[in-house]
Amino acid sequence: MKTVSELVFKDKDGKIVVILEHVLNIMLNYRQLTPTSFEAAGVLIGERRGPHLVICDLSVPGIGDIRSRYQVNRKGKHHQKKVVECFYSSNGFQQYVGEWHTHPEDYPSPSFLDKQSWRDNLVADIPMVTIILGRKALWVARKENNKIREMREVSLSE
Ligand SMILES: [Zn+2]
Repeated sequence: MKTVSELVFKDKDGKIVVILEHVLNIMLNYRQLTPTSFEAAGVLIGERRGPHLVICDLSVPGIGDIRSRYQVNRKGKHHQKKVVECFYSSNGFQQYVGEWHTHPEDYPSPSFLDKQSWRDNLVADIPMVTIILGRKALWVARKENNKIREMREVSLSE
């Protein structure tokens, strides 16, 4: 996994999600690299550029979250606070666009519970993003019209 620059993901329709470098660097601190590290989760904050999305900020684990090896429940009040702060400081350009969490596997894939939770909780009539951070790779998907579409990483020259 590249750790030094932004990552770009594309779905079959050519829609793009960009994860900015500083977001990625913060997220990478939470990889479950040791046998005892807990799952981590947060919200994704982004700017919509037409059908595309740029992930420009995020919330991270904090007080109130319930975390264990194979589960995380984003209960802390700081997640919503972060969304509100970003919204106001950007004049509404930066919004809640999805969520991320970690898995203790190299190449992550969504669990049954993940899919169920996105279906039930990631509700919006505009596209949303979900990221699973594994030890060696990211799994990224867009949710649009209640369908979850996996995205693939592309290089900027593609
Ligand atoms: Zn999961």
